Amino acid sequence: MTSIRHLTDSLEQLAPPAYQEGYDNAGLLVGDSAAEAKGVLVSLDVTEAVVEEAVAKGCNLVVAHHPLIFRPLKKLTGATYVERTVVEAIRSGVAVYAAHTNLDHVAEGVNRRLSAVLGLEGVRILAPRKQTLRKLVSFVPVADTQRVLDALYEAGAGQVGHYRNCSFRSEGTGTFQPDQHANPYVGRAGVPEEVRENRIELLFPAHLENNVVRALRQSHPYEEVAYYLTALENDNQEVGAGMVGQLPEAMDERAFLLHLKAKLQLSCVRHTALLGRPVRTVAVGGGAGAFLLPDALRQGADALVTADLKYHDFFAAERAILVADVGHYESEVFTKNLLAEYLSEKFPNIAVVLSTTITNPVNYL
Ligand SMILES: [Zn+2]
Repeated sequence: MTSIRHLTDSLEQLAPPAYQEGYDNAGLLVGDSAAEAKGVLVSLDVTEAVVEEAVAKGCNLVVAHHPLIFRPLKKLTGATYVERTVVEAIRSGVAVYAAHTNLDHVAEGVNRRLSAVLGLEGVRILAPRKQTLRKLVSFVPVADTQRVLDALYEAGAGQVGHYRNCSFRSEGTGTFQPDQHANPYVGRAGVPEEVRENRIELLFPAHLENNVVRALRQSHPYEEVAYYLTALENDNQEVGAGMVGQLPEAMDERAFLLHLKAKLQLSCVRHTALLGRPVRTVAVGGGAGAFLLPDALRQGADALVTADLKYHDFFAAERAILVADVGHYESEVFTKNLLAEYLSEKFPNIAVVLSTTITNPVNYL
């Protein structure tokens, strides 16, 4: 049986909850994680119509980008669409899950998909996060080193971008003297001991600390395991807001805006004044991304493609960059495909259906 938890655990490998913003509410919002998953409907938003669609299509889990419950609910009287949707989901036995800012902040998330739709190449995180990495140093007898490293890799340590099993080791001499209560792996009580050991060093994402330390303790042969954990200030190139990449060939600004309209199926695009410069380097931020403007300028982007810009955000571009507001829904609707493709690949035996409900609350005349 595949439970809802199997699916959500897998989604959390793609978009770890630790990477969501403090104000966010990603995760399982409605439903029983132990229930059997019968089918998944993937949507950008969750509305009553989406829950009805799930029921009609035999799905008992809705996976969405935007959290249905974002602010705390104090009543369930059906006064708002959120309350009505929650009640309808519970009544219909439909679980509701959201991967929100955590999916915005991973290298294979919302902005990777938006970049791909726009044909950007060589993309990387626009505003890499700090303080998401830790370093482990430990000391392991030479003969046990590989086994300990393998356990640490398995726990998620030693992955740097597209490289796996990354570590450093240097050989030296470890010394210790067990007392009479010790049960040493090598040596005897009361006798000073010297052992050839490797000092091993690995990076790992901070949110995996418990897993990594547990794997070290379980695989290390010593009764007392010597290790250091260090919080790193380094940018994590794999985690952060927005992305930046290059168009295969520079476009003039008007052609670029028409390219956005065509690729994102826009009826209109709001933009700052044309600057008479070609566009080659493009920053993107799906959803509300005015906060990315300083990062886009710092990274030398010719254009920033995002949504939810306010009047004064257009002034803030300072005629230094072309900023385009393509609409919140339009900038993120492809996230459905990303989530559906991911789940279909991981769970080939579960029906994963793309929602056809258009949830965009904004209309254009
Ligand atoms: Zn959004």
